Amino acid sequence: MKRAEVLEQLELACRNGYALGSFSPRNTVLISAIVRAAQAQKSPVIVQMSSNEMRWFELSAKEFADAFRQRAGDAGVPVILHLDHTYDFDVIEHAVEAGFDSVMIDGSKLPFEENIALTRQVVDYAHSRDVAVEGELGNIGGADQLETGGDTSLYTVPEQALEFVERTRVDTLAVSVGTAHGVYPTANPHIDFERLSQIRDLLPDTPLVLHGGSGLPMETVRRAIRLDGRGGISKLNIATDLELIFQRVLGVQRMPNAEVVRLPADALERAIEEVQAFVEDRMRSFLFSSGKAAI
Ligand SMILES: [Zn+2]
Repeated sequence: MKRAEVLEQLELACRNGYALGSFSPRNTVLISAIVRAAQAQKSPVIVQMSSNEMRWFELSAKEFADAFRQRAGDAGVPVILHLDHTYDFDVIEHAVEAGFDSVMIDGSKLPFEENIALTRQVVDYAHSRDVAVEGELGNIGGADQLETGGDTSLYTVPEQALEFVERTRVDTLAVSVGTAHGVYPTANPHIDFERLSQIRDLLPDTPLVLHGGSGLPMETVRRAIRLDGRGGISKLNIATDLELIFQRVLGVQRMPNAEVVRLPADALERAIEEVQAFVEDRMRSFLFSSGKAAI
């Protein structure tokens, strides 16, 4: 998919009160679960893999992109291939060469000026290849940081977000407003909606991305997406939940992709069906993207 088509999907979502789910299958088998869910719900969707996930599951960008094309090639609904959290330029290059539609460069742990320089370098390269770029400002971190009470010094500063987008020309921005990666230790994760509104005011045309979508309460997600009718979050990353379902259904621990694909076909099919049901539920009741494929 071309960069303009990726951005069009996100802008449609923003204008029409829904968000695209960006799901991590964590192995090539579960790509089918996400694609089937999108087809059943007539929903646009994003399939993502991060550089850490590639390492954990011993998958290259090319292996993942090839498996994606096999399963999503003629899906009949918009399915975007996205590279999630990546810290190195050479990993971005491999993914772009492999055919990813969109890439995330995460310079959020770097000092502001270094984050700008690295993100700008990726934008210049990716845009020349017609690939969209997501940047991150403010540090989203892991769920363990929530136990310290939510350190707002890690949150995105609205004025910096404006300067960051203007100077990097990044297409979409991941914001840190209280969500976290992994499994939440609390039943009520908090989102700083005032901060999210300020960012939206300063950046009315930049699709905003929320990470840490596993385990967020439905009302919180709905409010972040709609943001009082102005259009808030256009892309919600959901990663951990899919792997937890996979492990529960199969009674296995985390394993490399090469071992996953050798598991019995009927067991894998059961896992695909359960993950598909979960993704469909998220499209219907969290993302509101059901039926929006042909909007
Ligand atoms: Zn993330």
